[in-house]
Amino acid sequence: MSVFSNALTQLKKASQHVSLPDYVWERLKRPERTLQFSFPVVMDSGDIKVFEGYRVQYSSARGPYKGGLRYHPDTDLDEVKALAFWMSIKCAVAGIPLGGGKGGITVDPKKLSAGELERLTRAFAKRLAPFIGPEQDVPAPDVNTTPEMMAWIMDEYSKTVGRQVPGTITGKPLAVGGSQGRTPATAQGGMYVLTELMSKLKLQPKKVTAVVQGMGNVGGIMAKLMHQAGYTIVAMSDSRGAIYNPKGLDPVMVEKYKHEKGSLVGYSGAKQLSNKQLLELPVTILVPAALENQITKDNAGRVKAKVVFEMANGPTTPEADEKLSKKGIIIVPDVLANAGGVTVSYFELVQNIQQYYWDEGEVMAKLKPIMVGAFKQIWHRAEQLKTDLRTAAFVIALERIGHALEAKGKY
Ligand code: NAD
Repeated sequence: MSVFSNALTQLKKASQHVSLPDYVWERLKRPERTLQFSFPVVMDSGDIKVFEGYRVQYSSARGPYKGGLRYHPDTDLDEVKALAFWMSIKCAVAGIPLGGGKGGITVDPKKLSAGELERLTRAFAKRLAPFIGPEQDVPAPDVNTTPEMMAWIMDEYSKTVGRQVPGTITGKPLAVGGSQGRTPATAQGGMYVLTELMSKLKLQPKKVTAVVQGMGNVGGIMAKLMHQAGYTIVAMSDSRGAIYNPKGLDPVMVEKYKHEKGSLVGYSGAKQLSNKQLLELPVTILVPAALENQITKDNAGRVKAKVVFEMANGPTTPEADEKLSKKGIIIVPDVLANAGGVTVSYFELVQNIQQYYWDEGEVMAKLKPIMVGAFKQIWHRAEQLKTDLRTAAFVIALERIGHALEAKGKY
């Protein structure tokens, strides 16, 4: 299933509510620049392997391209294009002055040693160097990429241009110009939105059950924050499977177990389930926080949650969107729910440029009004247009991107 065609279906649906010149629509349907690299890496055995990497610079209408780098065996140009498009929408939804981009390498990082991963990342960074930088394109971490890797990319870029440029990339370790609060930012941003939604729906966290798919930077922290706030997390999962206890799990203990054993298999006091079964559990909130295309036309009919809260990018296909909406399920779209990550990445860039750093309290105090404000605008617009939250979010973003393109002119 083409992820980019899903993204274009969402664009088409929202376009019915926005009036923009034809040439602007034509620009929005395709990336401004698509980069594809192949490059050699010396493996520990001495053999040389050639890898494929991508960077899609989708829209610079509102500022430099911004978006993560993903390492995954299924990563390809189609996926990266879709993710770059969604980044353009997301930055506009958050109202931050950035465009959208995304990148990645087709690789299973679990099969590489630490040394191989560093050589792979540095080789990719050398290819990216002419095309990135604080005023041009600012990458960040995504699936299977880490703050340490961001530091290596910044280091390679800085060597190429002959000076230290911390604003080349965000999601860096604090020691080299990272921002306080960047690691929990995506999940914390999601929590600000979730709290607003609960008050709209007049639901108390203590009476709400939830499942979280994916236990990485986003899902792992989201589960912990939800648990702290009083939600009952009945199931969690990683790429190897899920665990379920209707009385509730303690995400801190689950994470500790995963850290020690490498997976959730054998976790005591919980039933083992597949990721497919996890998506169909009877709960109030389903939080997909792993990969795209998890809720499709094939399983949407069996989703029993009242709310799908998209912390992953693109977890729900357009056909599934329709089916869930018909069943009255509220979908909080990725471009809103997980926008806290890119917003604090923007704060990191601002701090790097200013050479003046904020404490975590200041970061969160700036993040909260952006997330709450975006939620309120989208909720209001959805009511006005009598449409779903995703379409409302796209409408707001397309107006902002479209007006920037119009203001820049046709020539
Ligand atoms: P990560 O690499 O830290 O974690 C990914 C998690 O998903 C891992 O626990 C992995 O085991 C699990 N997983 C992989 N395939 C799975 C499957 N089929 N079923 C269940 N679990 C599976 O990645 P992350 O940074 O947490 O990103 C997760 C999602 O959130 C992605 O869609 C990413 O684009 C999105 N996102 C991330 C950020 C960020 O700041 N890191 C910001 C916005 C959006």
